[in-house]
Amino acid sequence: MLHLKTEEQVELLRASNRLVSRTLAELARIIKPGITTLRLDLVAEEFIRDNKAIPGFKGYNNFPNTLCTSVNDEVVHGIPSDYTLKDGDIISIDCGVILDGFYGDSAFTFPVGEISDEKKRLLEYTRESLEEGARQAIAGNRVGDISWAVQNKAESGGFSVVRELVGHGLGKNLHEPPEVPNYGRRGRGPKLKEGLVICIEPMINMGSRNVRQMKDGWTVKTVDGEPSSHFEYAVAVGTNEVDILTTFKFIDEELSKIK
Ligand code: MG
Ligand code: MG
Repeated sequence: MLHLKTEEQVELLRASNRLVSRTLAELARIIKPGITTLRLDLVAEEFIRDNKAIPGFKGYNNFPNTLCTSVNDEVVHGIPSDYTLKDGDIISIDCGVILDGFYGDSAFTFPVGEISDEKKRLLEYTRESLEEGARQAIAGNRVGDISWAVQNKAESGGFSVVRELVGHGLGKNLHEPPEVPNYGRRGRGPKLKEGLVICIEPMINMGSRNVRQMKDGWTVKTVDGEPSSHFEYAVAVGTNEVDILTTFKFIDEELSKIK
């Protein structure tokens, strides 16, 4: 059963996801060597609450914080801590909010200071794999068209696709059907319909695709210790073109000021 949204509900989801986009941009301003991931979490929580929303992840299945902060070989679901970011790190920040009853959910992987060319390339390919997947979110296509587009782009760069974690529908619940894998075959899977809102969120590894979960019950890391990158959009399936509810525009503006 897919939860198809009315136009009004899509607008509420747009507002929720815009708040996540703006929260991530607030963090872009302060991500630098020397800041702890817990500090980022506190800034995000305050910003979300100042905007009359509540953190979407805090308390979800007992997750303790507002953000998932995943550094270097951490793939997703890292818990904010006193870890101090270092020059050359990459950090995936996944952020969720609930605004007027609807979830926003997006992620971006940030460079910390100056990063290696290899890591830059990993980030570029992951982000582009998300863009290519999102272009397939058109009514009449199938989930597999998105999955294939993401996988094809990521693997064309020599990177590997995490399979244990997938994208999902989004609405009044953080995770709704359908699952949106980042690997698969064109023409397979559930048919996309107008009004469906989904999160597409490639998790792409520099080394092997294999991951394992840490004893904290949350953090997922690469088995080989190589870095991983994660970008996530919430999108509304359109009739002729995709309607991306997330925007990285504010983040890009902040990052261009740092350069
Ligand atoms: Mg997310
Ligand atoms: Mg998600």
